[in-house]
Amino acid sequence: MGAVDPLKDIEHYAQVMKAPRIRESAARLAEQARSDGWSHEDYLAAVLSREVTARESSGTQNRIRLAGFPTRKSLEEFNFDYQPSLSREMVAYLGTGVFLTQARNVVLLGPPGTGKTHLAIGLGIKAAQSGHRVAFATAVDWVARLKAAHAGGKLPAELARLRQIGLIIVDEVGYIPFEQDAANLFFQLVSSRYEHASLILTSNLPFVRWGDVFGDQAVAAAMIDRIVHHAEVLTLKGASYRLRNTGIDTLPSVRADNAAQ
Ligand code: ADP
Ligand code: MG
Repeated sequence: MGAVDPLKDIEHYAQVMKAPRIRESAARLAEQARSDGWSHEDYLAAVLSREVTARESSGTQNRIRLAGFPTRKSLEEFNFDYQPSLSREMVAYLGTGVFLTQARNVVLLGPPGTGKTHLAIGLGIKAAQSGHRVAFATAVDWVARLKAAHAGGKLPAELARLRQIGLIIVDEVGYIPFEQDAANLFFQLVSSRYEHASLILTSNLPFVRWGDVFGDQAVAAAMIDRIVHHAEVLTLKGASYRLRNTGIDTLPSVRADNAAQ
């Protein structure tokens, strides 16, 4: 008998298939299979599962990296005791990512420091873990991107490209008012995703104040209509979490926002 080593063949095939984890686990799991009396099927399943698990987690890591989150925040880290009126069940449900398959939206409203960005990132990470592509940016950054595409005559292509991303997160709608053309570009983003793909938006302003942000009540109304038609709107309340141990109760801007609500 020649020196036939099936593990060498497995190594070769794994390399051709670009499945490095099969290469690594084949010999080790074969020994375990022999000593624990696994069937051939058990062994093959164990080897393949190493590859699939590793691929899934590297896919998730890629999606998280490409999402452009400003920082990592998880839903698990969120302290619901600090937001008693927020439904844990709703947040957990959104964490399953089912809303993405239905192209539904999520709107997070509330004063500064109440966890809007935290929840948006936490939901974004869950979405990435469940296999969805995600892109995070502030409203100002999204408008800058759309403006650049528009200036280059590539707005329709850019909107089509963005539609391939299952979840777009628009943070901080309302921190800075838009110019008229920016408002129109943003409206086009919302329209192009309507019933196709999801948005998560965060804002420190209630919907009634969005007209001021977009400089046009009609554009704002048409946009809000599309956003909330299929959406969960979560309202966060209270003092800034950032200030919780400082003895400062509210920020001046918080009082102004609350007064307008
Ligand atoms: P917002 O976007 O509403 O202004 P952030 O999400 O940026 O607020 O929250 C401010 C800081 O406080 C972040 O570091 C965030 O992780 C933290 N934070 C806010 N609310 C909570 C909470 N309920 N539980 C845990 N951390 C929170
Ligand atoms: Mg924020």
